Amino acid sequence: MKQRITILGAGLAGLLTGYRLKKLGFEIRILEARNRLGGRISTVVSDNNTLVEMGATWFGEQHTNLLALLEELELSYFEQFMKGTAYFEAFSMSPPQIIEIPTDNPSYRIMGGTFALINKLAEFFNENEIILNEQVKELDFNDNIVKIITQDKIFEANIVISTLPPALLVNSIMFRPQISSELSSIAERTHTWMQDAIKVALVYETPFWKHKNISGTLFSNVGPITEFYDQSDAENTKYALCGFINSSYAQFSATERKEKILSQLERLLGNEALKYKSYEEVIWSEEVFTKNKMQENIFVYPHQNNGNAIFSPAYFNERFYISGSETSQYFPGYMEGTIFSSNKLVSKIIR
Ligand SMILES: Cc1cc2nc3c(=O)[nH]c(=O)nc-3n(C[C@H](O)[C@H](O)[C@H](O)COP(=O)(O)OP(=O)(O)OC[C@H]3O[C@@H](n4cnc5c(N)ncnc54)[C@H](O)[C@@H]3O)c2cc1C
Repeated sequence: MKQRITILGAGLAGLLTGYRLKKLGFEIRILEARNRLGGRISTVVSDNNTLVEMGATWFGEQHTNLLALLEELELSYFEQFMKGTAYFEAFSMSPPQIIEIPTDNPSYRIMGGTFALINKLAEFFNENEIILNEQVKELDFNDNIVKIITQDKIFEANIVISTLPPALLVNSIMFRPQISSELSSIAERTHTWMQDAIKVALVYETPFWKHKNISGTLFSNVGPITEFYDQSDAENTKYALCGFINSSYAQFSATERKEKILSQLERLLGNEALKYKSYEEVIWSEEVFTKNKMQENIFVYPHQNNGNAIFSPAYFNERFYISGSETSQYFPGYMEGTIFSSNKLVSKIIR
């Protein structure tokens, strides 16, 4: 009998796992809580169709599984623009230092935005196979068939694969019967990569920084910006700057935060920085399908418990698998780790 597999989450892990299993002849359904695909991959179409990355962006030559997947899906990539002056603000009392960025280990971006990877995988499914706006709330393993309960529907499957970050999984889904306290307590203490990140992008009509031989690369201990980069397209026809804000700035109002970011950009890049066409920001700690309120009181170190062996076995009589970036033993938290864990799980299911 054809095995019916339901995958929870339509981020990179869910879509890639579904893509591989469907190719092998399994019947696949993917349930996604958000009203969009991609999870922590989110390429926003901003002013003048300029694409800015509010989630995953960069990778390197060490990310061999990602490079192989891009080749398999016939997606191209290009080098992150780093030419020209870069600034480092070490102390608030001292002027910014001009620094040299080594060019021997470049990072890359996917042509057409990281979301091109999500779109390419999604093309492989028909409209009944990926269902958006379905927040899974309960998994019931009492019968031979697994019942997957969302806000207003009950789905059934032979096998369920979760691709939710483990902490979110155990804090937002009820299991019948309950999962072991060991699995629950480790999952709860498993760090979700970038769960507290704030990402900001500004789109410009002209790349004024490049005209002054400034790369757009900024590092700062002063803040609010901690790291910023040029995010113009590969063809150099659309122009943007994009990067990370210190996560403590989530406490400010959106207006106050923006004022502080603009004041830092003006200080470093001059008043042309204020002539932006559009401004985008995502505060990932407020994204309830990445980090929920239950996780706020539990302190975890970056990558804590990532790739823990407890995520490897199948549970509930081989009917439940836990996958996703944070379960990977190799580059956990990154796209590379996501692909590694998906590939590994598919091999396990075939066996
Ligand atoms: C700001 C930021 C910057 C990043 N930068 C980089 C980078 O430069 N390079 C890099 O390699 N990686 C980066 N990453 C990490 C990268 O995005 C992740 O490794 C990868 O996208 C994880 O994919 P995933 O499918 O495992 O998890 P997710 O993308 O988190 O997917 C899980 C999915 O499950 C869904 N979901 C949650 N709850 C439910 C529910 N109850 N029912 C149904 N669905 C549910 C979510 O909506 C989501 O779509 C970054 C991440 C962020 C947030």
